[in-house]
Amino acid sequence: MSDNKIQEQAPKHFIRHIIEHSLDKSEFGGALRLRFPPEPNGYLHIGHAKAICLNFGLAEEFKGQCNLRFDDTNPEKERPEYMQSIAADVRWLNYEWDKICYTSDYFEQLYEYAVQLIRQGQAFVCSLTPGQVHEYRGSLTEAGINSPDRDRSRAENEDLFAQMRAGQFAEGRYTLRAKIDMAAANITMRDPVIYRICKRAHSRAGTRWCIYPTYDFAQCLSDSIEGITHSLCTLEFEDHRPLYDWILQQLGLHHPKQIEFARLELSHTITSKRNLKRLLDAKVVESWDDPRMPTIAGMRKRGIPAAVIRDFCARIGITKKNSIIDLALLESCLRDYLNEHAWRAFAVLRPLKLIIENYPDHQEEIMHAPRHAKQPADQRALPFSKVLYIDSDDFMEHPTPQFQRLAPGRMVRLKYAYCVECYEVKKDKHGKVNEVYCRYDPNSRSGQGRDSKKKKIRAIHWLSAAHADALTVYLYDRLFVDKNPLAAEDLLHAVNPDSLHVLSNCYLEPNIKPSELAYQFERLGYFYKTDQHNGDAAVYNRVIDLRDRWSTGKPVKF
Ligand code: ATP
Ligand code: MG
Repeated sequence: MSDNKIQEQAPKHFIRHIIEHSLDKSEFGGALRLRFPPEPNGYLHIGHAKAICLNFGLAEEFKGQCNLRFDDTNPEKERPEYMQSIAADVRWLNYEWDKICYTSDYFEQLYEYAVQLIRQGQAFVCSLTPGQVHEYRGSLTEAGINSPDRDRSRAENEDLFAQMRAGQFAEGRYTLRAKIDMAAANITMRDPVIYRICKRAHSRAGTRWCIYPTYDFAQCLSDSIEGITHSLCTLEFEDHRPLYDWILQQLGLHHPKQIEFARLELSHTITSKRNLKRLLDAKVVESWDDPRMPTIAGMRKRGIPAAVIRDFCARIGITKKNSIIDLALLESCLRDYLNEHAWRAFAVLRPLKLIIENYPDHQEEIMHAPRHAKQPADQRALPFSKVLYIDSDDFMEHPTPQFQRLAPGRMVRLKYAYCVECYEVKKDKHGKVNEVYCRYDPNSRSGQGRDSKKKKIRAIHWLSAAHADALTVYLYDRLFVDKNPLAAEDLLHAVNPDSLHVLSNCYLEPNIKPSELAYQFERLGYFYKTDQHNGDAAVYNRVIDLRDRWSTGKPVKF
């Protein structure tokens, strides 16, 4: 199995049981045809990943089929850019569709079905405004009121509907409604609108149409046309299932089984395109694929491997109960995976110069460090010299009792190299330590039979100043401080003001081998190379730090 497809346990869940049962009983002639039907009105997010893994995953497992269908029935919000990104995201998650379909390809057929309902006396052209439709609908405790147009003759309905199609009426003038039952307990069944006038050019159909089917009308019919066997959707469509069934029954068509499951909601972020768009509009993030976004494209850009998203989706399972999954679970899948697979490197994010006074001026040595803990034979070469950079976090002039690393009079090990002891510091004009002077023990080189006393010494990472490459890092953090940002008074107020820090004066070990995966910068976290540059400096995103800084509810500093 390739790296990209880590071993996934086929998750057992109720939908899988339903499908197994269907196949055992040879329902639908033993066929399994699923679909993933996004509306191309934005980029896909981690919630969609759950639906993708569910549909494509089941099709893969049971050797069925799965279509990617663009539910493109609303030209006001849909764009070709979104279709491209959606298709790219599905492929990146390592799934392949059997067919790529567009609801807009069925517009003619859907129109014919609407005419059939009119001829059967089961649909009528209605002149109520959206406000009136709402008013007439009634409530959970009160039956609705019939539209005054409900008893219009079939011939007149057919004629008006043809005129709607021909563009004879302004937007909002008429709708086509199914004639079901204004007293139905389920409000969805109270004569729902199935067509509306919209005079916008469609990204694929151009100006051929000025009436568009609603979601409820288009979804069941598209499923039926494609011969879908099990139509999987999120729980909010449970109330719409009677309408799904009603339309297919009245038209006597192939009838897929609709099954609902809980949406994925993730803490500290949002999983709805509409709200993600608000972040974009308010310029909280730069783009749909901003590495802080929970979009699939954002996560990819950040450096989260597809295999991690699949693993996460397998671990959260499929249920019928809505709940908020802790983002820490996704982060822990990410750490587990990267710890196992990522190569190691040294980087210094906040450099502090360390000078080894007793090291020969022009001497250079090559230290050897494993590229990965699991492959000790695969070594990387780290040049070592008199002047080094260490991370300023690893030094304290006046150490606190908990601080175990370098301080005046103290010794640390330079990881994979020598032990050094600090004897002096120099400060800049602001009084900030900017040079640390040390002496090293030439007999303490790593791997050369250390004395037992030195084994207890803390090790810190370092880079040879003359050899290090320039580096810029983007330190990303959670997008929201609140666990449930949608519960906040204003979504925009729940935004984490520190979700991005740029450090542009960093250093990286030389001769980094290109990797598709993030690197572990030892002792710091996982970092993924972007295709950007900052002058000579390569730019890396922090994918995730080594440890969960949010476990106490608030982040520990960057
Ligand atoms: P959004 O609210 O983000 O716009 P949506 O439900 O309108 O989402 P669609 O593009 O219509 O998005 O959804 C495509 C498919 O993905 C649907 O079958 C939908 O049920 C599923 N889906 C969307 N969001 C989630 C989620 N958070 N968890 C699981 N499945 C989801
Ligand atoms: Mg939608």
